[in-house]
Amino acid sequence: MRWKGRKQSSNVEDRRGTTVRGGGGGPVAGGAIGSLLFALFRRGSGKTKLILIVGVIAACFMFKINPISLFMSTPGGGSSQVVSQKDYQPTAAEQEMFEYLKTLKGDNETIWAKIMAAEGLTYRPAKMVVYTQRTSTPGGIADAQMGPFYLPANETIYIDPSFFSELEQRFKAKGDFAQAYVIAHEVGHHIQKLLGLTDKVHGQQGRISKTEYNRLSVRLELQADFLAGVFAHHGQEKFNFLENGDIEEAMRCAEAIGDDRIQQHSHGHVQPDLFTHGTSEQRKRWFMRGYQSGRIRDGNTFDVPYNEL
Ligand SMILES: [Zn+2]
Repeated sequence: MRWKGRKQSSNVEDRRGTTVRGGGGGPVAGGAIGSLLFALFRRGSGKTKLILIVGVIAACFMFKINPISLFMSTPGGGSSQVVSQKDYQPTAAEQEMFEYLKTLKGDNETIWAKIMAAEGLTYRPAKMVVYTQRTSTPGGIADAQMGPFYLPANETIYIDPSFFSELEQRFKAKGDFAQAYVIAHEVGHHIQKLLGLTDKVHGQQGRISKTEYNRLSVRLELQADFLAGVFAHHGQEKFNFLENGDIEEAMRCAEAIGDDRIQQHSHGHVQPDLFTHGTSEQRKRWFMRGYQSGRIRDGNTFDVPYNEL
């Protein structure tokens, strides 16, 4: 992707080099344990990794702990503390990544302001927080291993750029446009919030069955992929930013992070009832539809019969 020299967003907060410690008992402490295990895991040798995995599984089994809870954190209760990571100094590559993220965010703002204005709608830019390790959000403590996400409550995208290394190593999805797709997908969630779709879907939680709610969630996710495609379409028109292979990078990324693929990675088999993002095929298809059409109205994933998504 050609990205250098364009306007960068002023809605990006740099929280790199700080992290959050503590936060009181229960789940927050769980989050801290998870972070510690994660750090040990990342630094450990192959043998250490194996011992850690077996140890954690055994401990969870013995003490009847849900392993996921080790990585969960919630705010409230105790007080959490923002501390600086004294030895934090971004490398040249990390700094370049930060500049890239600010440019991508700026591109998204330019493109979406234009598309929304053409539809007679007002665009309000999302905020983006770039952090390292852990950071606090109004919805709890964000942890690097959660991956990037959009928090509708404060219209903010949270990202620890180390996610992109994981994308490359674990999911074999590399390239700067794979990263652009990830950011554009999160901005897509912001567009859905502005269009009132997020509240509509979230309002159904608890009113319909878990399976039905998961299906709505898949529709929301596939639409965010579609909107990422719409961004690519208009970005190319305005900035001519695509280089050879960029769309393929985005498609490979969409394929790599489809629910069926991720589930296969972690469980060895696929359970469609648990899908909340869509399969690899569906994610690729909706991104491509958005890229080819460039019009919001062609992406009504809520109108298509579920098995035809
Ligand atoms: Zn999403």
